[in-house]
Amino acid sequence: MIHRQIIKCVLFILLVSLLDVIAENSIYRIGGLFSDSMHQAAFRVLVNKVNNRYSNSPIEFIAEPYNTSYYNSLDARKGVCALMERGVIGVFGPSSPYTSKYIQAICDEKEIPQIEIHFDAKVDRNKCVINLHPHPEQIFQFFNYLIAYLGWDKVIILFEDNESLLRISPLLELNMELGIDLVFTQLDKDSAGSYRTVLNALKKSPYKNILLDCSIDVLEEVLTQAQQVGLMTDEYNFIITNLDISVIDLEPFQYGGVNITGARIFDPTSEDVKQLTKEILDTMRIPNEEKENRYLKLTTALLVDGIHLFYDVIHGMPDIQSDILLESLDCRDSDSWMYGYTIVNQIKGRDYDGIITGKIKFDGEGFRRDFKMDIVELTENGLTKVGEWNTTSKTMNILRQYTGNTEQSSEIGLFNRTFKVITCLTDPYVMIKQIPEQLVGNDRYEGFGVDVIDELSLLLGFNYTILEQKDGIIGNFNRSTNEWNGMVREIIDGNADLAITDLTITSERENAVDFTMPFMNLGISILYRKPKPVPPSLFMFTSPFSTGVWIMLGVAYLLVSISIFIMGRLSPSEWTSPFPCIEEPEYLINQFSIRNSLWFTIGGLLQQGSELAPTSISIRTVSGFWWFFVLIMVASYTANLAAFLTVETLVTPFKNIEELARQTEIQYGAKRQGATENFFRDSNLSSYRNIWNHLKEHPEYMTKDNEEGVKRVESENYAYFMESTTIEYIVQRHCSLAQVGGLLDDKGYGIAMKKESPYRNDLSTAVIKLQETGKLTQLKIKWWKEKRGGSTCSVSSETSEAEALGLKNVGGVFLVLFVGAFLGLVGSFTEMAAHVYAKCKVRKLSFKKELRKELGITFKFKTNMKQLSMESLSENNKDC
Ligand code: GLU
Repeated sequence: MIHRQIIKCVLFILLVSLLDVIAENSIYRIGGLFSDSMHQAAFRVLVNKVNNRYSNSPIEFIAEPYNTSYYNSLDARKGVCALMERGVIGVFGPSSPYTSKYIQAICDEKEIPQIEIHFDAKVDRNKCVINLHPHPEQIFQFFNYLIAYLGWDKVIILFEDNESLLRISPLLELNMELGIDLVFTQLDKDSAGSYRTVLNALKKSPYKNILLDCSIDVLEEVLTQAQQVGLMTDEYNFIITNLDISVIDLEPFQYGGVNITGARIFDPTSEDVKQLTKEILDTMRIPNEEKENRYLKLTTALLVDGIHLFYDVIHGMPDIQSDILLESLDCRDSDSWMYGYTIVNQIKGRDYDGIITGKIKFDGEGFRRDFKMDIVELTENGLTKVGEWNTTSKTMNILRQYTGNTEQSSEIGLFNRTFKVITCLTDPYVMIKQIPEQLVGNDRYEGFGVDVIDELSLLLGFNYTILEQKDGIIGNFNRSTNEWNGMVREIIDGNADLAITDLTITSERENAVDFTMPFMNLGISILYRKPKPVPPSLFMFTSPFSTGVWIMLGVAYLLVSISIFIMGRLSPSEWTSPFPCIEEPEYLINQFSIRNSLWFTIGGLLQQGSELAPTSISIRTVSGFWWFFVLIMVASYTANLAAFLTVETLVTPFKNIEELARQTEIQYGAKRQGATENFFRDSNLSSYRNIWNHLKEHPEYMTKDNEEGVKRVESENYAYFMESTTIEYIVQRHCSLAQVGGLLDDKGYGIAMKKESPYRNDLSTAVIKLQETGKLTQLKIKWWKEKRGGSTCSVSSETSEAEALGLKNVGGVFLVLFVGAFLGLVGSFTEMAAHVYAKCKVRKLSFKKELRKELGITFKFKTNMKQLSMESLSENNKDC
């Protein structure tokens, strides 16, 4: 029994103490009116966080977020009434500045504290409202100071709407106090929904300093379009007043040289803030990639600090904590909450350190004053803090020297710059697109040069606008006026930044402008009609051998015949008895008379034989060599004759520039004021000078452009000096035309820019990169062989031609023959000497004397008989 009672007592005590605990832990509902999902999520996360902030805290918040429309005031009213019915002790929001007025009115009536996170420019303050947003008056005091500090004397103020105009009104002081020329321009959208019209107008004005005040939702788009129209260059300086400048991606603008300065209350990229942002984002249903690029905006940060502040204020009022619990309020009746003003006054009187946005202090009207701002500047490393602004002391603490000058930024590179690229229409470098639709801007052009610029822009990250040189002149220096014309002139005058087309790099042009490395190599050549086939000739059979070979063949025939004749006389075995049946002939005869020798050789040459049979070794040797020679020559002749009969031989009236200059029938010319004309003008070679004199005397043969030149070649007896790459393009499409001769010089096409241009190296490196990666080759194939009727004349313009064999082809056979003939002569002389020696030895005669006698008989060419002496006769008999 006693036990039971003790247990009951304990349970009762526990229950009472539990009720005590519950009673002490006061629960407060706080409401939020949000049209932004991030605000809603932050609200929930932060309410949870503050509840866990102090251990054993007697108060607990319950988040009551309400989703309202951004613009619909009725919806907002419905939301705030719903919250009041649930008994909220404070309302955060709304997310939208448009509905704020209605919420304020209700909160004021019901005396419920409202904590705003947007700036509310309305001057008549309601009593129950606290505005956490830094006061624009103080923000713009800083921008006033900054404009003066940067020394801007002319400024365009780009404002978005009426709210924005109210915000920036403190800037008017600048005009009054410092006499700075301010032009206010509204950032209106044009009919296409873009800001480009306003931005373009701004670009045409002489103002280079721009103060931009717009909401964060459009800021990125405005900057992107400013870049598209060419405002994001080192010529322009921007001040961006939106304090959320850090949350947009400024990377596309950070290399372009544009000076962008702004301010912020906190750094959304700092680790603590990023961690909190992640916690908030993790509670939201959005894709992970989207989470990575989201930073905390100022309004969300203010919400975070506001919840902390509100909690701390309630936490700091222990004596009334239990009393301020609110049941429910109905919007339709006149009840109000008696503690609302107490809390609002508590908040206003606080000096609080916000966990994100720093010092929080309010004036009597509930506006946030005396905050600190970071001054930020866009550098190559992104948005960088360069100083601090103290709104209380109105002092600027610069961490490093502000570099708002324009010189230094030219070092930055080409990224995000916009270049004016001037060009002349020349196929296939730059052409107008052949499509029925009406195109505008860069879209109108296509071609090799356009693609090269496009590839470079992709590599280096610049933008470009193509301009057209209407007179089609690339650039010529007038030596009498000392002035340039054409595209080169436009570059010199700064009307264009880059020039590209079939722009030849010449030393004269190099003096006036800078060039990149050549993106294409070429030389001057001649465009003329294709050669015609040679008409059939009666003496076609002589064609296989050149005249030299025919002459040498005749010489060889004579020499070999004479050699055989001499050898026949020298060789003892060739002297035979005229009547083989007579045992003791008185004389001997030689079958190789001069006539027989010629006959014997011709018989061999024509492969017919001659019934003469040499017996001496030396003549047989020579005959062997002769027949070998004949074999090779006949085979070569036959083969080459076959080639002559099958291959169509073409004939051109001239084969090179010298032949063209010598003749008078065919007229010739080049493009007026072009590099080709100047090549002849400046050349020292006599043949080129002759051409130049001719061109000077006949200006009527010079053409306005390549197209005219091509037409004249097709229709007249006219040859056109043209650059080889263009000839290559033309002969692919005009099948009756061909290149004649080789290249007269060796040069290249480059991209021109102003002298001492800082972009030259980057562009040259990029051109080399395009070369190395094969991109330029690819583009050449595309524009030469594929597009616009490329490869129409796919048959190679180089014709295979049969050529007469010259001495260099068959000289070796002649050499072999002459060596053979020489060996034969030496052999026959040796044969004769050996014969005489043997005879002298037997008869004991003088060898010398006998040899002389024998030679005497040999070289007595008149007769073909040899008288025999008595000794010789008996010798002969012995032999028999
Ligand atoms: N490429 C030449 C120039 O740069 C034009 C054509 C020519 O002269 O053949 O002037």
